Amino acid sequence: MQQLELVQVPKIDDFYSMNYEKGEIHLRGVKGRAFVLPTQAWAALRVLLSKSFKDDAVPFMLQMGYAVGISFVMQVKKLEGKPGKLIKILLSIAKSSGWGQFSVEGDMDNGTELTVIAENCPFCHNESSPQLPVCYFLVGFVNGLIDYLYGKRHKANETEYRGMGQGACVVTIREIPVEIEEKL
Ligand SMILES: [Zn+2]
Repeated sequence: MQQLELVQVPKIDDFYSMNYEKGEIHLRGVKGRAFVLPTQAWAALRVLLSKSFKDDAVPFMLQMGYAVGISFVMQVKKLEGKPGKLIKILLSIAKSSGWGQFSVEGDMDNGTELTVIAENCPFCHNESSPQLPVCYFLVGFVNGLIDYLYGKRHKANETEYRGMGQGACVVTIREIPVEIEEKL
């Protein structure tokens, strides 16, 4: 006989509390305030940045993501554990923030070669012309997160893009060897 599994499905209240009068949303786990940004607003922001700043929009969005990636690690660095364990916590935060279902493959102990698979990526959710990767914020985010988590510099690239019909946005990360880093 098949056993009935009682799996507790997480609810939004498990992660956030809201003070409606004050218009505040609070994160339960890391005790901070948060706000909601619709993916449509994100798409509008991305399009406008590209129109206004042309080629400069890409490094700008990468840098935005990089800063946010670092801030995420700062939140969990207070918790004890090896990078592999902290990555798992970060993936859970990403999921509970509506960032999609992230998974990481590769050497999580050293972080030399990693692949981040972002299923259901919100950063290209409203992309109307899925020709080229547009998830620069995601790439910067992953880059900042991994750099800060391992204390070394890495190069992150979007190697697969959902907009091209590949199912998930995939970011590959490679550690930059010290001798190359010195020349940068
Ligand atoms: Zn994407």
